[in-house]
Amino acid sequence: MTSESKPGTPSLDAFRDEVRRFFDQTMPNAVAGTSEGTVARAKAWRVALYDHGLAALDYPTEFGGRGLDADYVTAYREASDGRVPREDMMFGIAVGMAMPTIRDLGNQQLKERFLRPGLRGEDMWCQLYSEPGAGSDLASLRTTAVLDGDQWVVSGQKVWTSGAERSSYAILLARTDHDLPKHRGITMFILPMDQEGVEVRPLVQMTGKAGFNEVFLDEATIPRDWVIGDINNGWRPAVALLGHERVQTGTASLGGAVDQFSKEGRAPIPFQQLRQLAERTQRQNDYLVRQELARLYSGQQIMGWLGAAATHPSVGKLWRTRQGRAAAELAGRMALNRSAAWASDLSDPASRDADFFGFQILNCRGMSLGGGTDEIQRNILGERVLGLPPEPGPARDTPFRDLAI
Ligand SMILES: Cc1cc2nc3c(=O)[nH]c(=O)nc-3n(C[C@H](O)[C@H](O)[C@H](O)COP(=O)(O)OP(=O)(O)OC[C@H]3O[C@@H](n4cnc5c(N)ncnc54)[C@H](O)[C@@H]3O)c2cc1C
Repeated sequence: MTSESKPGTPSLDAFRDEVRRFFDQTMPNAVAGTSEGTVARAKAWRVALYDHGLAALDYPTEFGGRGLDADYVTAYREASDGRVPREDMMFGIAVGMAMPTIRDLGNQQLKERFLRPGLRGEDMWCQLYSEPGAGSDLASLRTTAVLDGDQWVVSGQKVWTSGAERSSYAILLARTDHDLPKHRGITMFILPMDQEGVEVRPLVQMTGKAGFNEVFLDEATIPRDWVIGDINNGWRPAVALLGHERVQTGTASLGGAVDQFSKEGRAPIPFQQLRQLAERTQRQNDYLVRQELARLYSGQQIMGWLGAAATHPSVGKLWRTRQGRAAAELAGRMALNRSAAWASDLSDPASRDADFFGFQILNCRGMSLGGGTDEIQRNILGERVLGLPPEPGPARDTPFRDLAI
């Protein structure tokens, strides 16, 4: 039985109207009084979304969800197209990755403790996976957790941690047994970030912003039961979370609101925003610009279809990266011939455009790295979809401590 035929469930058309009403009436009031690009705006938006029953459509009602099926998720995405504030990207890890992993693989205590506030935007989350010696080869991670009485004690270093500076919790991967092969002996934890043993140091990128951080863990502690999945079997939830990440970075978020110039997050510039820029710069009749705009419109439609279809999420991620680069290049061509990027006075529209779209040219490069590089997506498709032989590497049953890494 689909959700639509369940008693008390709105029809899909009525649901689309509900979403449009939320964006027309509720949302503007909810974010009024907050500034663009701030955590305050991000939280105000999420609380309003949750309190109006739109933040957790396919979650069980016992955890604050609405128990609807995938058709409603797609209907929400279509009806909200171009209107979701860019600040929502601050919840990409919490809502797009951590919550579905806890929902699917966490124990009852973790679900009760974390799902509702996470979906409502009360807590921000980060992802403590990558390390200086473990990026694409994530299973080589060295951060170690040791059980001491009723808590785990964790030491090590993570890097490229997006949003760590504003997060209350992290999904952490740490090694719990060095005698097991590298893909075993890893455990997934929930780490409270606000404690003495956690030091967050920002890393400034070429955009001038510090979108990610180094995180140093020096005997940080975790309650004994804050484990997702089984001890030493964290590779399974780790891969599940990466699947959600590819959906998240690949197709789920099609871009931010088209009227915003906030520099939050990494998403392809929406087509409507490019069209508006073409009009502002009087390039709408330029044949080459029109050709690129048509290509990017098709690309955006395809991104949406890949989100709705049962394609492997690596396909969507590769497509989105390509779209992001092409959109930023076209925007740069239009905006940067009238003004200089990083002009100090942004009150004039040409300088504001140059500043924003110049930023996008630099920022879009990160899309092909975060969530796994393009090469890794192609390896995944080769091995898991096309059935090609796996890459050669150290025997998968060699104990981690005997590997020369
Ligand atoms: C903007 C951004 C945000 C990020 N946010 C987070 C975060 O919040 N949390 C987190 O844990 N991590 C985060 N990362 C880290 C990201 O997951 C890693 O950068 C990525 O997995 C690549 O790892 P690496 O940087 O160590 O590169 P490496 O693994 O050293 O790769 C270097 C190059 O070698 C290629 N390569 C490596 N292995 C292979 C292979 N087997 N076959 C073919 N080519 C290969 C890669 O494609 C790449 O071009 C973020 C990264 C970026 C850029």
